[in-house]
Amino acid sequence: MTQPEDRDSQFPIHLYDLNLPTLQSLLEDWGQPTYRARQLWEWLYIHLAIDFDQMTNLPRPLRQRLAAKTTVGAPQVVGTLQSSNGETHKDLLALKDGETVEAVLMRYRGRRTACISTQVGCAIGCAFCATGQMGFRRNLTSGEIVAQALHFARTLQTKGERLTNVVLMGMGEPLLNYEASLIAIRRLIDPQGFRLGQRHITLSTVGIVPGINRLAGEGLQITLAVSLHAATDSLRNQLVPINRRYGLDVLFEACYRYVERTGRRVSFEWALIEGVNDTPEQAQALAARLKGLLAHVNLIPLNPTPDYAGQSPSQVTLDAFAAELERYHIPHTVRVRRGVDIQAGCGQLRQRNQSSSRSTNRARSP
Ligand code: SAH
Ligand code: SF4
Repeated sequence: MTQPEDRDSQFPIHLYDLNLPTLQSLLEDWGQPTYRARQLWEWLYIHLAIDFDQMTNLPRPLRQRLAAKTTVGAPQVVGTLQSSNGETHKDLLALKDGETVEAVLMRYRGRRTACISTQVGCAIGCAFCATGQMGFRRNLTSGEIVAQALHFARTLQTKGERLTNVVLMGMGEPLLNYEASLIAIRRLIDPQGFRLGQRHITLSTVGIVPGINRLAGEGLQITLAVSLHAATDSLRNQLVPINRRYGLDVLFEACYRYVERTGRRVSFEWALIEGVNDTPEQAQALAARLKGLLAHVNLIPLNPTPDYAGQSPSQVTLDAFAAELERYHIPHTVRVRRGVDIQAGCGQLRQRNQSSSRSTNRARSP
């Protein structure tokens, strides 16, 4: 039987951290019939309830016991930013130990997409990334990952809307918190629960090759996004330090295998940095790498961060880079910098909150 990931006696049981069999055994230990767990499950994942008093088909003594011994596990909102066009809403969410993570809701072309975090901070340390600049603090539990998507689903529910997409593209590296991320994905697509379509979920990785190989064998139809940012090892080593461990040859081998095993197209993320990776040579090297691969490139102008000197390129340079990909028939999209005015780059709201609560004389990263 799977144990909840955190049963620290200091804290109540977090229900989002439990799978259905564990919930069943908990309620059976409390003398409840087996069907109770399914009823509670529906309150949690279909009705998105956070208040036990709402759960009117559960007997009152059970509701009281749940309220005394457990908590649903919904995070507290401790900061919010809204883009001026109203399309992007970013929340800073506090976890049970006081750590915070960012989650973003984007409304675009009829989609309602939640961008959620998988770790507090990140150990990879990509030069341009605000999350990388803060270092690694801890993994999120599966419940803490799911809770971020449900948080926005609940907001949307009050307006009669539904969450349509989830991207694991917030703070942290999902393939370095593999088990919890996969439990969270399976929880979101659960046909007896939240029922999100598999194809409406994207997992973004910096390129953890063993993780990609393992993901390819999960029998899932989610989209894999790989944060590439450079198509030569010498440049990628500088931007994305993990490239020294998993270089481009092994990374692309894993991507080819992923497509072969899942039949799914792989997305490649490319944050364009002025004078660094926005050259025709990089576009050509990228096109060469992608030859024969079922792939799509997302070009994203860099969101400048305080500890990295890089800037986003001009529109002319961006267009030229896209045109070069076009010339090689590489499918691509130029992503609008949605919510640049709300510091939508991952880790930036937390970074701002932290720096405003301590000395502003922050050391710059090397
Ligand atoms: N660790 C995973 C997922 C989280 S990062 C990964 O790296 O893929 C999500 C995406 O945001 C990645 O593509 C990352 O490269 C990108 N990103 C991080 N900082 C950025 C910035 N300042 N501007 C633009 N994109 C950024
Ligand atoms: Fe970590 Fe992704 Fe940021 Fe790199 S881009 S530091 S892998 S969160």
